[in-house]
Amino acid sequence: MKSLPIQIKLTDNRKEKPNPETLIFGRNFTDHMFVADYDEGKGWHSHRIVPYAPVSLDPASIVFHYGQTVFEGLKAYKSPNGTVRLFRPEENMKRMNLSLDRLCMPRIDEDLALNALTQLIQIEKDWIPTVEGTSLYIRPFVIANEAFLGVSPAKKYQFYIILSPVGSYYKEGIHPVKILVENEFVRAVKGGTGGAKTAGNYAAGLKAQEVADQKGYAQVLWLDGVEKKYVEEVGSMNIFFKINGEVVTPAINGSILEGITRKSILHLLRHWNIPVAERQISMDEIRDAYDNGTLEEVFGTGTAAVISPVGELNWDGYKMVVNHNETGPLARQLFNTLTNIQTGNEEDPFGWILQLNNELAKLA
Ligand SMILES: *Cc1c(COP(=O)(O)O)cnc(C)c1O
Repeated sequence: MKSLPIQIKLTDNRKEKPNPETLIFGRNFTDHMFVADYDEGKGWHSHRIVPYAPVSLDPASIVFHYGQTVFEGLKAYKSPNGTVRLFRPEENMKRMNLSLDRLCMPRIDEDLALNALTQLIQIEKDWIPTVEGTSLYIRPFVIANEAFLGVSPAKKYQFYIILSPVGSYYKEGIHPVKILVENEFVRAVKGGTGGAKTAGNYAAGLKAQEVADQKGYAQVLWLDGVEKKYVEEVGSMNIFFKINGEVVTPAINGSILEGITRKSILHLLRHWNIPVAERQISMDEIRDAYDNGTLEEVFGTGTAAVISPVGELNWDGYKMVVNHNETGPLARQLFNTLTNIQTGNEEDPFGWILQLNNELAKLA
């Protein structure tokens, strides 16, 4: 890892840490954040760690008007022996560059960004909660902050990393959720920005989510934007179906976000010699599998929940109750294995964990 000269200004006003038992996702932030600036012709510069604080932006900043912004999401864990563990962070930096490319924004140096991240976490490591299921959520993001009301790529950007201690997704253990198959709204189309982690995708999804909420469903299952026939993904999770012993997930097609959890699940399944397929899968096929009793399990995958079993799928009023609305054995096994690797309760045979070392501790 390249090391980066970062100016560090520590706060003398440390916040009180929240109670780890009652943490709400995304509500608490640590004492410091990372910031870097980009100017056309000069590149990324002025890398710094500063006290966490509101930022000042020109009201004409391009990000407010034309949505040039991308983000990432990953987690840091504290292992039983107190070391800090990051799960595949280089994958997030790689994906951030794909998103940046799609939005005509300048790429970051993945190595330097990783180094900045580890320096920030080293400073904030006391913020990593240790209660089971908790972690430190990491949110890197880039915004266009040039003041200009023209529709063209900005010449000025800022890269931030903020940190948020988060609670267990499952307060009462892993349990299934109800999902509404979305027949009216679409999330993304091929050629659009569905494959990038960019703000507009999520703003565009809120209306469908609102309707699902009112009907008592946790999330929507997005279908393809053209025929509304093929399955894409769920909210901010990728989706898997176990049909007659084979695990199927939609292939990456340009409109689906390629999750790092998805990639890791596929790796684990192949490692365990469980048949897997990445291909197009239609709602008709899922209904047929349900009708003939071969739809064994359905689950979503993403950084926040890791694995989220689906207990009911509602497709236009046709309700499919999966595995008696109970967490299936495969979903449970994947959840246990992945979370044990992440937290250090189990060996990491795949080289997925970046463990923060004492060298960096000295820097901080
Ligand atoms: C982030 C995200 C995912 C899951 O990606 P992970 O890397 O597994 O967290 C899936 N779908 C969407 C739309 C997302 O934003």
